[in-house]
Amino acid sequence: MPAQGKRHKTTHPRSGNCMQTEGNNPQSAIRNPQSRDFIRTIIAEDLKNNKHDGRVTTRFPPEPNGFLHIGHAKSICLNFGVALENNGVCHLRFDDTNPSKEEIAYVESIKKDVKWLGFDWGGNLFFASDYFEQLYDYAVELIKMGKAYVCSLSADEIREYRGTLTEPGRESPYRNRSVEENLDLFTRMRGGEFADGTHVLRAKIDMSSGNINMRDPVLYRILHASHHRTGDKWCIYPMYDYTHPISDAIEKITHSLCTLEFEDHRPFYDWLLDTLKTPCHPQQIEFARLNLTYTVMSKRKLLKLVNEKHVSGWDDPRMLTISGLRRRGYTPAAMRGFCDTIGLAKRESRVDMGVLENAIRNDLNDTAPRAMAVLSPLKVVITNYPQELEEELEIDNHPKKPEMGKRKVTFCREIYIEQDDFMEDPPKKFFRLAPGREVRLRAAYLITCDRVIRDEQTGEIVELHCTYDPASRGGSSPDGRKVKGTLHWVSGRHAITAEVRLYDRLFNVKNPEADKETSFMSHLNPNSLLTLTNCRLEPGLAAAGKNDRYQFERLGYFCLNSVDATAARPVFNRTVTLRDSWEKIEKNALNTG
Ligand code: ATP
Ligand code: MG
Repeated sequence: MPAQGKRHKTTHPRSGNCMQTEGNNPQSAIRNPQSRDFIRTIIAEDLKNNKHDGRVTTRFPPEPNGFLHIGHAKSICLNFGVALENNGVCHLRFDDTNPSKEEIAYVESIKKDVKWLGFDWGGNLFFASDYFEQLYDYAVELIKMGKAYVCSLSADEIREYRGTLTEPGRESPYRNRSVEENLDLFTRMRGGEFADGTHVLRAKIDMSSGNINMRDPVLYRILHASHHRTGDKWCIYPMYDYTHPISDAIEKITHSLCTLEFEDHRPFYDWLLDTLKTPCHPQQIEFARLNLTYTVMSKRKLLKLVNEKHVSGWDDPRMLTISGLRRRGYTPAAMRGFCDTIGLAKRESRVDMGVLENAIRNDLNDTAPRAMAVLSPLKVVITNYPQELEEELEIDNHPKKPEMGKRKVTFCREIYIEQDDFMEDPPKKFFRLAPGREVRLRAAYLITCDRVIRDEQTGEIVELHCTYDPASRGGSSPDGRKVKGTLHWVSGRHAITAEVRLYDRLFNVKNPEADKETSFMSHLNPNSLLTLTNCRLEPGLAAAGKNDRYQFERLGYFCLNSVDATAARPVFNRTVTLRDSWEKIEKNALNTG
């Protein structure tokens, strides 16, 4: 009887060092100072001129209304990166001014993701909601200066009065309320006397400004809603555009780095801090947000995918959230490497998904031990191999890194190979197994196919009968005969059974948002997940841990799906294929269309 399920000792190293620490290596985020981008150039200049007393303090300011995505990773790497490079600090500040969409669960996930990327905010964890009292005081100050007023137009009316890009706005009939009346109304707004939407506090700037953000922007609105941190203490909430500059100033941020959509908001940012004469006036600098092909990036759209159950959750391995990429098998080092590669620009563009995939390929190519796994097994019986014999063969864990050691795999009379490594009637260029053909089994023997066994009912190929050359142990050909194909294999007696999930891109077009008429949802890739349940893996993979990644030879890079795996049934995720197959699809599309 074959020794079914017998566990033999194989040593399979855990993946390389950087994965054991899972990215807690912020030093590696430090860029080569020579490769400065425009933001680093500005900061270097400021340091030279001793602006801000030679300090660099940045912040990453997420709104806790969703999980972080790869675009946020760009901002995190930038903000924490420039702080690290300049002996500065980077604050993690939650911009939690919108009680209706925010949750504490998002706060926790964001903290986890920033840490996982390898960054440390030290004691500098802040919440905009901690500044509510100060923000209120500043608003009172603006009222007293005659720079803010309570407006009682409805939201629709405010929009109508605001004008357009080509037409100036009109002044609100409430614009000239006295300071006393404004103070009284604003106090009563805070006191809870008024219903949502009845009044707002607005800055008094210039309704004819060419910049719509300067046409008396709203600073406060009434919202009778519980806040995840301040509870029911407040029923007026400050707007983002008002909160952000003041929070930056309170924290003595030196460089407030944000994405391009805030460029038009910068005049208000500066107006506010100048008017209030805050002790610190940070410099806002904008950079282009990251967009990637074959995906959508905004939290709103990601939430839609989650809510409509197109994915299993925010951390579905197909999602380009940091938690999804982590489950998919991405490493912090690869993510930081990616952010470094794409650099910073002042103009929007779309980075090819292949660039992200290459970042993880390059990382895992160096660090992931190799293993053999057969995803669609085809049984091979080696008819001239003794029934009882089992041989332990040694294989390098990494072809280029002897320091990663070797492991043993057991060879015996029955093995599995990949179904598509056999063709009964092969075309010329097929160098794998076929009737009468000889191939090499990786690190084992040369075998020749003699017979194809079919299921009598279905005609399906169920087994191959092969013979081996005993002189070819280790896969050599002693007489120098040419054997082109080398196949991976696993022992029929020793392999473990596992589920393997082949993840692919979530959308099947480069820009799912290109057409404004059709929803991005209509471009979902129906083949973004293929689940294979009868895969056979070399037994050492039973010991795979949460942060271990492997190259399954000839197939791609894989990691344990620690959420869904059980001791009895391992589940592996494909992180990325060995080569970019989409590139070929795109080229073909170009040639034929
Ligand atoms: P989304 O548009 O995806 O909903 P957001 O901008 O509303 O994201 P925030 O929580 O406000 O998300 O973002 C926190 C920080 O991350 C901001 O400074 C923002 O500029 C930055 N950021 C968000 N998306 C990207 C992106 N795609 N590329 C670079 N930085 C980004
Ligand atoms: Mg935002």
